[in-house]
Amino acid sequence: MTKVPKLFGSMVFNEQIMRERLPKDVFKALQNTIRTGKPITSDVADVVANAMKDWAIENGATHYTHWFQPMTGITAEKHDSFIQPAVGGTVIMNFSGKQLIKGEPDASSFPSGGLRSTFEARGYTAWDPTSYAFVKGSVLYIPTAFISYSGQVLDKKTPLLRSMDSLDRAVLRVLKLFGKTPERALPSVGAEQEYFLIPEELYKKRPDLIMTGRTLFGAKPPKGQELEDHYFGNIKMRVLEYMEDLDEELWKLGIYSKTRHNEVAPAQHELAPVFGTVNIATDHNQLTMSIMRKVAEKHGLVCLLHEKPFAGVNGSGKHNNWSISTSDGENLLEPGKDLKNNLQFILFVTAIIKAVDEHQDLLRLSVATAGNDHRLGANEAPPAIISMFLGDEITDLLETIASGKEYSNRVGGRLSTGVESVPVIYEDTTDRNRTSPFAFTGNKFEFRSLGSALNIACPNIMINAAVADTLNEFADKLENAKDFEKSARALIKSEYIKHRRIVFNGDNYADEWKEEAKRRGLLNLTSTPEALAYYDREENVKMFERLKIYTPEEVKARKDILLENYCKVINIEALTMCEITLKQILPAATEFSTRLADNVTKLTALGVDATAQTELLKHIAALITDAYRAEQKLSDAHTSAKNEPDLQSEANAYCNAVFATMQELRAYCDRLETLVPKSLWPFPTYGDLLLYV
Ligand code: ADP
Ligand code: MG
Repeated sequence: MTKVPKLFGSMVFNEQIMRERLPKDVFKALQNTIRTGKPITSDVADVVANAMKDWAIENGATHYTHWFQPMTGITAEKHDSFIQPAVGGTVIMNFSGKQLIKGEPDASSFPSGGLRSTFEARGYTAWDPTSYAFVKGSVLYIPTAFISYSGQVLDKKTPLLRSMDSLDRAVLRVLKLFGKTPERALPSVGAEQEYFLIPEELYKKRPDLIMTGRTLFGAKPPKGQELEDHYFGNIKMRVLEYMEDLDEELWKLGIYSKTRHNEVAPAQHELAPVFGTVNIATDHNQLTMSIMRKVAEKHGLVCLLHEKPFAGVNGSGKHNNWSISTSDGENLLEPGKDLKNNLQFILFVTAIIKAVDEHQDLLRLSVATAGNDHRLGANEAPPAIISMFLGDEITDLLETIASGKEYSNRVGGRLSTGVESVPVIYEDTTDRNRTSPFAFTGNKFEFRSLGSALNIACPNIMINAAVADTLNEFADKLENAKDFEKSARALIKSEYIKHRRIVFNGDNYADEWKEEAKRRGLLNLTSTPEALAYYDREENVKMFERLKIYTPEEVKARKDILLENYCKVINIEALTMCEITLKQILPAATEFSTRLADNVTKLTALGVDATAQTELLKHIAALITDAYRAEQKLSDAHTSAKNEPDLQSEANAYCNAVFATMQELRAYCDRLETLVPKSLWPFPTYGDLLLYV
């Protein structure tokens, strides 16, 4: 594998390539833009564009695209070739700085939440020079932000970049109080990605998977995940070949794919990259998801990124590991050896505690999707209640500060493996029960509530914004303090006391936690519509406005887009269920009942006892009736949800009436599946899908 370093980033217009291919002054100007976020001049852009084009063509590109992340949650691209007509019916390959910096895709078909009327359907895309361009297939991809003609945000990238700037400014203000002046301070993120792999030929026989990404029906197989034999288990040959291929594709694109292993559910796996700056981590995660799907096709597999493709076994999540790194190479969430005296660390952690407590709702709603509703609170992922794990050491320290007593650092416990040859591991501040939604894990916070399909931009916008806002508030208070240290300690004490209710180091899956959280006044927003209702809460709107991340109109538009998306997803699922019930499941069940009825008639005519067959027949006939009634009820529920007067009540109706009826219908159909012969059942079962890759 000596070729990995050579392979890595070979399809990326990265710093090294820029250094090789750009004139020194242009290279310097571009690096300055990348480092400081300052705009680029058109002369520089022209030179960069030309070098980028030549490099891309050498690597097989004929087209370029402004690659962006609209509110659909997936990425969007429109390819333009480099060709430009020249004399004598020939062409030259051309790409200008203007084309690099700005694109004008017709944006009328992307969700805008009413921000853009059709007469100004044009949106434009703006190059994000901090995320490298790359070649995939025959296309040069240029990461961009997507904005409406009048400057309103239409995507997930623009507010992410804005939130990074806010955090940067706020962090620098606070660091200055500690006598530190790095050029920039940006959030670092590592996103662990879970996924399922199933055989393509079986996938194609499941209309529910094709239409909705998840199975809407399916009885539990005799073997699920109960033996716990899949987690970290031996990786099967076919899967390993897929993973090897995937790593190679990701490495070519400069994605630091690092860890791969089997996950808890059968056919479930995980990939984790090395962390990076959040906008790049976001681009890389989007790219990783699309390449995961693509590589699967080559292996006759389908990669499922839905949060809950199969009921009864774990769904897939995405852990968002978040910290703040300065351009001087300092991780601000590194507690260091002398925690007690690390005032800077304690101040930053206190700011994060306050931020998470005050904006629990934003963190919760940033991970709210129809798919993720299946996981949160289902004892496979954190509950819908946002809380923080800090570990004993930090909690003890803060509690001591709160009580006004002296703190004596605990001696870091030593973990012995009991095996001589294995080195001793120091006990660190990590969340061993792994049930916390927002856990301090040594030198970063791990936000664990994300669903596997989510674009990580949104949760990171919320974390960045909430923390930036709190740090600004802290800086306001501390910048004019006479005795900075004393004031900082007093501030830590008062803010921790105010917000310590958000800290919970126990088992988040336990039922008692729900009760305890309620007593503490924490929010428990169990469904997407319930969570989204909080998006435009006054304090949230004010914060976004203060930080110049969203205008009040943009917040409202986002909320509407997400509510609408929720309704659409449940609507598609409901219609798909009705169709599969009527066209596949009921016909199969009726066919079996006809055969049974025949059998009963014939046996009885011969004077043979047909008690068992008769009972089975009755059972099936009753289930057919139940399923048919539930299908009708679902159809009615869907019609009345559509007639609700506004988006919020429509979403509520989809959640409370439509989704609930879907569960009912599924239960009848799943029971039918256990009774109808395999030869008559219209599609592959869970056992087929999960256990045979
Ligand atoms: P887990 O125990 O959850 O598997 P790992 O130690 O494997 O955790 O790390 C998970 C992710 O956290 C990886 O993507 C890793 O790069 C990332 N990570 C490590 N340190 C940091 C940091 N300081 N900031 C952000 N992410 C980090
Ligand atoms: Mg993790």
